[in-house]
Amino acid sequence: VLEVKDIEKSFGTLQVLKKIDFSLEKGETLAIIGSSGSGKTTLLRCLNFLERPDRGKIIVNHEVIFDAADPVTRRDSELRKKRLHFGLVFQNFNLFPQYTVLKNVTLALELLARERPDYKQRKKAILEEIREKGRNLLAQVGLSDKLDYYPHMISGGQQQRVAIARALALEPDILCFDEPTSALDPELTGEVLKVIRNLAERHTTMIIVTHEMDFARDVADRVIFMDGGVIVEQGSPEEVFGNPREERTKQFLARYK
Ligand code: ATP
Repeated sequence: VLEVKDIEKSFGTLQVLKKIDFSLEKGETLAIIGSSGSGKTTLLRCLNFLERPDRGKIIVNHEVIFDAADPVTRRDSELRKKRLHFGLVFQNFNLFPQYTVLKNVTLALELLARERPDYKQRKKAILEEIREKGRNLLAQVGLSDKLDYYPHMISGGQQQRVAIARALALEPDILCFDEPTSALDPELTGEVLKVIRNLAERHTTMIIVTHEMDFARDVADRVIFMDGGVIVEQGSPEEVFGNPREERTKQFLARYK
């Protein structure tokens, strides 16, 4: 479903990503691990076009959605459309504080629905369908009883589960998580990991940047270890965690023993 070819990204003179090359099959969960500053967040931001790669190609479902060498695919208007292939769940939830839990999940769908040709005639029915979808997604993350709450009224773990439901609402081809539990107290981490684990069991295609090594080992189909802006090693969890080939991977994992 995804091919990333030779992505490079620099900030000024600092090259943060060097020749990043990997692919992901539909239904797979990919975990990206690596020390702080290794470029993991920047890679996710490039996939979501929050950053524009300097070089390389991004291919989704065999369509080249970004090619640094092709001015057409680099246009902002194109990138905004192409971004819908990816859902993103941030470290700090980033919910809209002024909207209820349900509205946070439905807002983007409501805005998109306005472009439908039948919107004017069927507005009421369309909005009800969207709310029904929102309620179903919130049920899936265990928050049916919080629909009318505002973000400040619920815990960080609950907020992150709303953020996951919101990302799922747009039915992205690939759901990306940037350290989804690192802003949470330890006792709230489990409930978020459980939701992500459920998604993996349902074969949602996902990329997860995480420092939770046990979780990555357990839930991922494939693991990428990054260091200094390059992919040092990639393989199955058994290979990368159980039998790492590279010295840098061994050193990194030793810190988590
Ligand atoms: P962490 O685990 O701490 O989130 P990371 O692996 O996600 O780290 P990145 O956040 O991708 O690493 O950062 C990689 C490098 O790029 C760092 O040296 C960072 O300071 C630098 N960097 C990231 N964003 C920018 C930016 N907008 N401008 C300049 N430098 C940046």
